[in-house]
Amino acid sequence: MENREDLNEKCAVVGVFNHSSASKMAFFSLFSMQHRGQEAAGISSSDGRKMHTIKDRGLVTQVFDDQKISTLNGDIAIGHTRYSTAGDDSILDAQPVYARYDLGEMAIVHNGNFTNAQTVRQTLINRGAIFQTHMDTENLIHLIAKSDKNELLDRIIDGVKKVEGAYSLIFSNRDQMFAVRDPHGFRPLSLGRITNSEGEDGYIVASETCAFDLVGAKFIRDVKPGELLIFEKGKAPKSMQLFEPTPNHCIFEYVYFSRPDSTVFGKNVYKLRKEMGRTLAKESPVEADMVIPVPDGGVPAALGYAEESGIPFNMAIMRNHYVGRTFIEPTQEIRDLKVKMKLSPMSEVIGGKRVIVIDDSIVRGTTSRQIVRMLKEAGAKEVHMRISSPPTTHPCYYGVDTPEQDKLIASKYDIPQIANYIEADSLGYLSLDGLLDSVGRDLNYCTSCFDGDYIIEPEKIETTEN
Ligand code: AMP
Repeated sequence: MENREDLNEKCAVVGVFNHSSASKMAFFSLFSMQHRGQEAAGISSSDGRKMHTIKDRGLVTQVFDDQKISTLNGDIAIGHTRYSTAGDDSILDAQPVYARYDLGEMAIVHNGNFTNAQTVRQTLINRGAIFQTHMDTENLIHLIAKSDKNELLDRIIDGVKKVEGAYSLIFSNRDQMFAVRDPHGFRPLSLGRITNSEGEDGYIVASETCAFDLVGAKFIRDVKPGELLIFEKGKAPKSMQLFEPTPNHCIFEYVYFSRPDSTVFGKNVYKLRKEMGRTLAKESPVEADMVIPVPDGGVPAALGYAEESGIPFNMAIMRNHYVGRTFIEPTQEIRDLKVKMKLSPMSEVIGGKRVIVIDDSIVRGTTSRQIVRMLKEAGAKEVHMRISSPPTTHPCYYGVDTPEQDKLIASKYDIPQIANYIEADSLGYLSLDGLLDSVGRDLNYCTSCFDGDYIIEPEKIETTEN
């Protein structure tokens, strides 16, 4: 699983309510969801009188230490990790987005993408709003600040009714927390119970349930598509169904995004990925000596492929987990080196062998091409690439950072041409039907990255202010 740097955002959000170490719990939660964004991290806490925010570029453990966490007082904390474009990694574009406004203080964290962001932003600018960041999330701050309602709750309702697209949002002010999920439920958002040291019930809302496992929280349920949850002291969370739910969950969460130990949209991701590998083996068999995964993303699917085909599984590519971003100029030589810094094949295992190598997706084709080359250089006799998802042909407008369409290799070339480009002896993808069979057809999914079937049309307006 190779991280691409020049993409937009994929994020994790967390909110902790009524816990004496709320910011610490938020920190650990973000740590467990680091895979959703490595560019920047931030936490806003509230002690009932004042809000405190720390955010910066870097990994969660680079942004926070004990001393910093100790200044984030209070029993409410919301947090965020961000993945952003290389050119756009301004500290202003880190979250939480914090603001003072006529009702006091507020902070927002957001996972997703507003599809009408430019239209809303332009309207706000035309009315005199001054934006400080490039983030669509800032629209909400303005919408809330301008609303004439007297309570933050009513202003949030006003605000989210004006935005469209994918959003899993958490808001807090000095003494309340709110969580909202868009009517389609594109991105995940789960609710859990977290008991504080006094034995009182606190609550946690997070993008992925792996956060609950780390902080010892109990999963209660998912926040429903179109639902708003209100957290107030001494009360159970109150639910309001703001919009008719029309679920279209992001299937790419299952393919690549989520951590395998998370339960996403009610299902364990690891089991589904293994099933995708099994289906792939049935759909795209090939004679070979071993099945090897591209770590870490390809591991569960490779296990499934190996089990189904009866071909032995080998961890023949090692991954170095300590590779961060390299700031050396990205010449072609350095780019090749970067893959080698991260992934290293074992020639003792693959030398002279026919290998099936499994990854979760091909986007531009760069990673697969480098991996095939690396395996051949390490002595593999044949390299058969198998991908546990369909060809990525369309960009995502709902919060996954796929590049523009013309950079997606499968939007321009057919499978034999891609096989040729990546220099593989053969290439096979999981079909969309196979993917849906693997994850189960009991839920509705957004599959737009694979079929261009956009549930919400992205806006066409271009502005120059970015
Ligand atoms: P590429 O080299 O552009 O074809 O990228 C393919 C690799 O990127 C695969 O190893 C995937 O696991 C990984 N990948 C897929 N989607 C994303 C994403 N949204 N962000 C970062 N990496 C991704």
